[in-house]
Amino acid sequence: MSTTKLIIVVPCYNEEEVLKETTRQLSDILSRMEQQATIAEGHLLYVDDGSKDATWSLIEQLSIENPRVMGLKLAHNVGHQQALWAGLEWASTSRFDAIVSIDADLQDDVEAIIEMTKCFNEGYDIVYGVRKERKTDTFFKKHTAQLFYKLMSTMGGDIVYNHADFRLMSKRSLQALVSHPERNLFLRGLVRQLGYPSAMVYYDRKERFAGESKYPLSKMLNFAIDGITSFSVKPLRLITTFGVLFILVSIGIIGYALYTHAIGHTVPGWTSLLVSLWFIGGAILTAIGIIGEYIGKIYKEVKRRPRYFIEKQITE
Ligand code: UDP
Ligand code: MG
Repeated sequence: MSTTKLIIVVPCYNEEEVLKETTRQLSDILSRMEQQATIAEGHLLYVDDGSKDATWSLIEQLSIENPRVMGLKLAHNVGHQQALWAGLEWASTSRFDAIVSIDADLQDDVEAIIEMTKCFNEGYDIVYGVRKERKTDTFFKKHTAQLFYKLMSTMGGDIVYNHADFRLMSKRSLQALVSHPERNLFLRGLVRQLGYPSAMVYYDRKERFAGESKYPLSKMLNFAIDGITSFSVKPLRLITTFGVLFILVSIGIIGYALYTHAIGHTVPGWTSLLVSLWFIGGAILTAIGIIGEYIGKIYKEVKRRPRYFIEKQITE
């Protein structure tokens, strides 16, 4: 007989089209696990990330019909990572000892939760849901995502390949996670650094059940840049390497210029000058841009602003 008390945390932004079905499927999984004594009890916590549609009233309604359903309503849209954090922070002080995070759109295989919980019962603190293939993703999404994982690992960020934010965490590992004060959140990187015993569960990722992706290209790019700059200072070092390289090249050019001058060739050189001017200008701008990226981060961190505000709450 398991004593595991499980809660599934689901961030939702404009998800009125999927929430009913999500609740049905997740409740079904929880009931089955209760019957098989994999868990003692299971609940759902929806975090409404400042949705503009009927998401919150739907959560209210679902919580009346279904005793498993709880909800947090954030006062404004703070983005997937911060919304998830809000739910995890709540769970870290709750009576639940295993916490699963999953997207609202049912793209991740809910059946994998059973396997994850079994791993938890065997003593693993963190169980990563890892996607087997990206068959259902668009060509574009698949390749940009792959590029991101590659870039991230060459830049020194330790992340699990093809793992998004579908994972199970024990209460103690969650408490370790929420003790991180940083505001630039890249959860999958942070979780990896905690170091508690971990396992992986593989699953196939499906198409969005309904509605459209809430992660347009602009958000995806922001996320990738945040991921790299929150975990690595390699881009900074890259500037130094480039700087040294440029100096070496310019020594060669000075030598060449002096030599041509000495043998009496006066080259008009207008074109080459202009070209190099542009090139160096571009290189300097890029370098300043990368430095700005880090300064922006420092700026955000030192402000220590609160991450979110809870406007309403349906919890125990
Ligand atoms: N989401 C959120 N706040 C946002 C954007 C998204 O809470 O500002 C939630 C969304 O409701 C979903 C999850 O984050 O549960 C992942 O979003 P989505 O499925 O749109 O991303 P994709 O799977 O396309 O990367
Ligand atoms: Mg999705």
